[in-house]
Amino acid sequence: MKLVTCGLPYANGKLHVGHLRTYIPADVYVRFLRMMNEKVVFVCGSDCHGTPIVVNAEKEGLSPRELVEKYHEHFQKVFKKLNVVFDYFGKTIEDYHHRRTREIVEKLIENGYVYRKEIELAYCEKCERFLPDRYVEGICPYCKSPARGDECDQGCGRHLEPGEILEPRCKICGSPATFRKRNHYFFKLTAFREFLQDYLSKLAGTENAINYAKEWVENLRDWCITRDLEWGVKFPLDESLVLYVWVDAPIGYISFTEQFTKDWEDVWVKGNAEIIHFIGLDIAYHHCIFWPALLKGAGYSLPTAVVASGMVKIEGKTFSKTRGYVVWVEDEYLNARFNPDYLRYYIVNYTSHEKDLNFSWDVFKDKVNNEVIATLGNFLFRILSFAWRNFGKVEMKVDGEIIEKILQTKDKVVDAIKKWEFKVATDAIMELASYGNTYFQNAKPWELIRVDKEKAEKVVANALQIAKALLILNYPVMPESMEKIAKAIGLNLPNSSIEKVAEVDKELVVAKPELPFAKIEEKDIEPLKSAMAERFAEKPEISIEDFKKIDIRIAKILSAEKVSGSKKLIKLIVDIGNEKRQVVAGIAENHSPEDLIGKSIVIVCNLKPARIMGLESQGMILAADVNGKAVLLVPEKDVSPGTKVR
Ligand SMILES: [Zn+2]
Ligand SMILES: [Zn+2]
Repeated sequence: MKLVTCGLPYANGKLHVGHLRTYIPADVYVRFLRMMNEKVVFVCGSDCHGTPIVVNAEKEGLSPRELVEKYHEHFQKVFKKLNVVFDYFGKTIEDYHHRRTREIVEKLIENGYVYRKEIELAYCEKCERFLPDRYVEGICPYCKSPARGDECDQGCGRHLEPGEILEPRCKICGSPATFRKRNHYFFKLTAFREFLQDYLSKLAGTENAINYAKEWVENLRDWCITRDLEWGVKFPLDESLVLYVWVDAPIGYISFTEQFTKDWEDVWVKGNAEIIHFIGLDIAYHHCIFWPALLKGAGYSLPTAVVASGMVKIEGKTFSKTRGYVVWVEDEYLNARFNPDYLRYYIVNYTSHEKDLNFSWDVFKDKVNNEVIATLGNFLFRILSFAWRNFGKVEMKVDGEIIEKILQTKDKVVDAIKKWEFKVATDAIMELASYGNTYFQNAKPWELIRVDKEKAEKVVANALQIAKALLILNYPVMPESMEKIAKAIGLNLPNSSIEKVAEVDKELVVAKPELPFAKIEEKDIEPLKSAMAERFAEKPEISIEDFKKIDIRIAKILSAEKVSGSKKLIKLIVDIGNEKRQVVAGIAENHSPEDLIGKSIVIVCNLKPARIMGLESQGMILAADVNGKAVLLVPEKDVSPGTKVR
């Protein structure tokens, strides 16, 4: 048996094309294995703990549980539409998951791999609490860049351990934090160096992940596995602490398997199955170092392969949600009613699994039109229509040469899939479609049929055999479309076997085929391209005259109050020198009205008035947009209201 898993999507945001880099190839892989007669279990689920979820829930005015449920539902809906079908898709907030996690941690404690240590942690006097992970921001001790509590996200990218960050500030109230002593618990990762060296030398999967891991194994540090948080799996030795989210998240692979099958111990304890993890390269450390050490320490079975996909670029730019280099799967792809199979094909065929994938709407359009439609769709539709219109029933006398070509393709595909080379496999399938097109075009059955019907039928039989092979081989990649087309020859694809791809029926009855492919026109992708360009904020050059048209002034805030019914808006009355103005600004999330009164700020005075929640706004406050939060611009010295800004 084989267990295939996917890195758990984090339940605090919607799915974007970057996520699909893991889920689609994994689904394609599982479908291939099943058609190769392997017994496979495929599990995944929502990762529900950790500070970002708590912080985000607070921001959205939801409880962490409500936030998690909202995105869990979203994940299930999108996966279903893309035909990514897990045997079990769980949630790490469920009791079964907490139980399994605590059991594993108790084993680690029993086996002597967990110890207590007093550390100095960021503490906010004002909020009266310790500040775990995302609750604190400060300076990276390694590269001195601004960083968040658990990760140097803007600098060197290092994972930061609790207590490491310099000049910590509370993210909730903004005050500087102090350091306080606190007992926390550590996992003795350093005890696993030799084990990991040996393990990594045998681990299968893609080289990108394993090569990284081999470097990291030389610099192991023990991991702090507890956090001062309410939300999470309670730590067995001290219930005022929860486990770090990276302890419990991968245990989801076990708890979800346990939910799906009674035979879970065969996989996770007795070592009777292959365990194959599909992940993004950004979480290779967790899966190649931390996770196997944890499993080893608790006496569980070890993963046999880690398959890491390269990262995703959007229109050639490094993927970034905050900068708008993102494509949202539901809102921008599915709601635009593109065939889900087009995206599946793009993701597996654009480049090799380990390399960075660029998603571009223009390339998407070209690949779909030229490859999926003009090559594959054209061949299938042409031969099936011809056979249906002229024969209905075809006696299948197939040439050895055709069988040979199909078998060669099958071998190429199977070999590539076993090595997670999805591009090689799908290129081979497209190559067979091209071969079919050429064969059909050169044999000219539409001319033959007028002079020699028997000869024409032979051509049709050959082409039909190629079509059947294409439907079977391409089913894991484009399941929905291939199933629709396969109805024309009564082929039950989910129950087909790749081993029988060249098996010849005595005869084939051909019904009227359906072609589920629509060509992508420029007008289909135009709105999506402009929406993205808008987000990229690549603005055109303007002249000094254009700039001079803007009336920017210093204003003094006279009064400020929250707009009732809105979490974001504050209504301000400001003095702009010669008059008073009412301005509605989306700054309530990180500003309290009391703190604003008396402040000098910068405003645009000649913007056309707008109505926001029924209130007139007669100007716009200038602020820096820091991850969607407003940081107000203020003059460096006292200046009187109305002073012009140039
Ligand atoms: Zn750094
Ligand atoms: Zn605070």
